[in-house]
Amino acid sequence: MLKGIKLKLYPNMVQQEQLDLMFGNDRFVWNQMLAMMNKRYESNKQLPFLGKFKLNYLLKPLKVEYPFLKQSDSSSLQVINEFLTQAWKNFFNDKTGKIGKPKFHSRKYLRQSYTGKSTIKVAAKRYLKLPKLGYIKASKTNLLKNCKIKRYTLSLEPNGKYYIALQVQVPELKQFPKTNQAVGIDVSLANLAILSDGTKYHSFNGSYFEKKAKSWQRKYSKRKYQAQVLVAQDKNRQVLIPRSLESFKNWQKAQKQKAVYQAKIANQRKDYLHKLTTKIVKQYDVIVIEDLKTKNLQKNHKLAKSISNASWRIFRTMLEYKCRWYGKELITVDPRNTSRICYTCKFNSGEKGLEVREWTCPNCHVHHDRDINAAVNILNKGKSKLNGQGLAVVNS
Ligand SMILES: [Zn+2]
Repeated sequence: MLKGIKLKLYPNMVQQEQLDLMFGNDRFVWNQMLAMMNKRYESNKQLPFLGKFKLNYLLKPLKVEYPFLKQSDSSSLQVINEFLTQAWKNFFNDKTGKIGKPKFHSRKYLRQSYTGKSTIKVAAKRYLKLPKLGYIKASKTNLLKNCKIKRYTLSLEPNGKYYIALQVQVPELKQFPKTNQAVGIDVSLANLAILSDGTKYHSFNGSYFEKKAKSWQRKYSKRKYQAQVLVAQDKNRQVLIPRSLESFKNWQKAQKQKAVYQAKIANQRKDYLHKLTTKIVKQYDVIVIEDLKTKNLQKNHKLAKSISNASWRIFRTMLEYKCRWYGKELITVDPRNTSRICYTCKFNSGEKGLEVREWTCPNCHVHHDRDINAAVNILNKGKSKLNGQGLAVVNS
């Protein structure tokens, strides 16, 4: 899929001069090539039409004759030939007579531009690297993430500002086939996700690396403390060459090791959540979750910690964008009473402490798994929300 993205450019003074030269060179090549084609046409209307590749051959001698052309992004001169070829084609193929011969370009145009097709890249945050211009400051380069840049047009607009318009290839997303299934998902302490069909997905277990990270954390604190003591001793004894904190390498090594294991945990958690969310989004067309405000949960510190351990927020974010990508629907519902109501008879038997994992409905005497009951209630809430929107209800 091709997409257009326009960013603002902030060239420095040197780059502005370079741009001015490049705009001029493009205009120069256009006018030179056009003059030559005009002559050919006038002298013999039967002469074969010159395509862009033939015109590109002519660029080389032109660059020898006019060395300043070498200071241009060479791909932009080829693009000029493409544009010119197209303009001639339009003129020849036009039966209405409305499209005239291509016209010469004047430097008086308020909008100046050139289009290139070299390989360009985002060099750093807010910096692009462009041929002959080097690193140039740009706005919102994060829009170009995961995009392949095909073409770019740099322009000086009549408002006196510089822009770059990019034609980019964005990866095509294949939508998952529809399954006509809906699911409610509850979250708990023990399990990351409990599905209304009874499936339970455990929370990410990073305990092995967590232990490692903790042990390096302890080593780091201990070693740093020891180093600080020694540095202080040197200072007190007024030794000739006192050691600095940085000269003790072992605490720095411990700090690095700690970071390595923390990164491993984060990566593995992400990997686990990616696999799980993709599986769920593939399996169901409609996914209903509770609208849990983390704010409300923070009152209960233990629960809040567990929730973050259970990676609920990443889980939810992934579900959100994957549903969007793959043509599925994510519905959030009010969490009120989802763990109090019996899904079989709708009787509300009040609040149950977090330690209550199973309970029997005092009204209809059905025995419930706490989380699965909640997940089914969540699903039902989602379905009535769908009904309210006049959308088709899918199976659970
Ligand atoms: Zn009941």
